[in-house]
Amino acid sequence: MIAVQRSIADVAAEVRACQNCSLCRGRKLAVPGEGPAPCDLMFIGEGPGFHENEQGRPFVGAAGKFLEQLLGSISLTRQQVFITNVVKCRPPANRDPLPEEMAACASFLDEQIALINPKIIVTLGRFSMARWFQGESISRIHGQPRKFGSLWVFPCFHPAAALHQERFRSLIEADFLKLPDILAQIEPEEPPAPIEEPPQQLALF
Ligand code: URA
Repeated sequence: MIAVQRSIADVAAEVRACQNCSLCRGRKLAVPGEGPAPCDLMFIGEGPGFHENEQGRPFVGAAGKFLEQLLGSISLTRQQVFITNVVKCRPPANRDPLPEEMAACASFLDEQIALINPKIIVTLGRFSMARWFQGESISRIHGQPRKFGSLWVFPCFHPAAALHQERFRSLIEADFLKLPDILAQIEPEEPPAPIEEPPQQLALF
């Protein structure tokens, strides 16, 4: 049987129909994420809030406006990056996502990462950070990229935290300003070695 490569749209369609955890019962719209695929920069937040649940799009509320400003500070627009969350449906009253909810969404995020094939993932907040940096404190490790296999991960504060607490604003702004240099320094993955054609056997007869 031939395995058919799934697309980012296939993953989004599956997210919209997902009933793998109880968050599906309270959602208006699931929020798979959006942006080009493949793409060098991928942002992973926590989960949809009120506006995201209404529109089915990530980071469209106040935190999203700030994320757009942060992207603007490094001459990027949201259309140039892929933006998603660890959970794709809104937790009630914007509470923190539960471990079983993140586990139910994990395979969607894994598949999105594989299809987007980013040079670097920027984690926004503690929950996406914890996927890679277990047991670490965001205050200690924010703004310090680390490599996991072939993937770089760059932990940042959540933009909403910066909106609520002024002291986080300058930290997240400074961390974003590091991104262009970090991106420029990441070596492109080794191109696949050319397949050597066996020398053509000349027909002698
Ligand atoms: N906060 C998040 O973590 N994600 C969103 O999509 C919106 C707000």
